[in-house]
Amino acid sequence: MELNQMPDQNGYFGEYGGQVIPPELKTIMDDINDAYDDVSASESFQQELQDLYAHYVGRPSPVFYARRLSEQFGGARIFLKREDLNHTGAHKINHCLGEALLARHMGKTKVLAETGAGQHGVALATACALVGIECEIHMGVIDIAKEHPNVTKMKILGCKLVEVTRGTQTLKDAVDSAFEAYLEDPVNFFYAIGSVVGPHPFPKIVRDFQSIVGREARQQFLDREGKLPDIVTACVGGGSNAIGMFTAFLPDEAVDLVGVEPAGRGLDTPDHAATLTLGTKGAIHGFTCYNLQDDAGVPLPVYSIASGLDYPGVGPQHCYLKDIGRVRYETMDDTGCLDAFMTLSRLEGIIPALESAHAVAYAMQQASRMSPEQSILVNLSGRGDKDADFVAEKLSL
Ligand SMILES: *Cc1c(COP(=O)(O)O)cnc(C)c1O
Repeated sequence: MELNQMPDQNGYFGEYGGQVIPPELKTIMDDINDAYDDVSASESFQQELQDLYAHYVGRPSPVFYARRLSEQFGGARIFLKREDLNHTGAHKINHCLGEALLARHMGKTKVLAETGAGQHGVALATACALVGIECEIHMGVIDIAKEHPNVTKMKILGCKLVEVTRGTQTLKDAVDSAFEAYLEDPVNFFYAIGSVVGPHPFPKIVRDFQSIVGREARQQFLDREGKLPDIVTACVGGGSNAIGMFTAFLPDEAVDLVGVEPAGRGLDTPDHAATLTLGTKGAIHGFTCYNLQDDAGVPLPVYSIASGLDYPGVGPQHCYLKDIGRVRYETMDDTGCLDAFMTLSRLEGIIPALESAHAVAYAMQQASRMSPEQSILVNLSGRGDKDADFVAEKLSL
């Protein structure tokens, strides 16, 4: 099967993906798949989405040559795809807008989701306010206390925030709580998944909405340099910004595609979220992928300094791309991430999200081993306003 025609009819990328869900939900997922096929072929839907990308999100986001950062290492030139400049400050708005429009197209009355650090919640609440559809976000009370600015934004944007007090009071139980609320009326509700994860067709839908990033970046880079970059890299949590960037480059065999996972406090400690690097095959949240799990298949607690990266599963397409060797997956620890966060801020005046700083750190490390004729394109998935206070405290600035 051609890489860019994946997944197959049943939602499989090789042996990963699919639908690990009860039969009654299969019908609902099939309806979503049919509706998605519908809107994919609908000129008016695509036109509305493209208009919003241009005039609401601010697309195309620029590709920026980071001159001072590159000169610091004296090797390959480093370029940044500026998804941090999007409205709401990250790539997530690309798929949240698509999902909100799809929900409205299907006549759904409410969009539901969970959120951990609040990034998905804010992007979704934004898209729902714009599209004019009710929005309900479930969030653990511990996360609510930690992520105050995002909680406030969600309230201002008019979504219903459900405080989850059970179990871990964090992301894991927020998922269960949101999913239960969804199951009360899956015919009229739409569960908006926050990355290229979950049951088929979500890994496909979210990838397609994000693939604008790589299509733009590839053309922008060609126009500017007359050739393609040697390395294209992005951080990997669930994998949406990475697959969004990689998709347009998959047929370009000379381009080295590298996903960067969080090594946290070290791969030899339990405190990391390097799912593709150290995980094993299993099921989570309705699909099959590499997992960080114990011997009984229970997801392990995972950790990263970047809360957007700490997920114990990963998108099924990434699992497949790893197995066939088309994408390499490397890791970066908290220390490297913090160093890149400060270096990019001080040399370019760009404060990156801690998530994105993992990919910047990898680019910095590789650049010095490469020649000035070579180039690295980094997907700068988001901006670091949300992380500024945390980093300042951590580094005693
Ligand atoms: C959520 C988030 C990520 C991680 O999610 P992916 O699905 O792996 O892209 C990365 N960067 C930023 C800025 C985020 O908000």
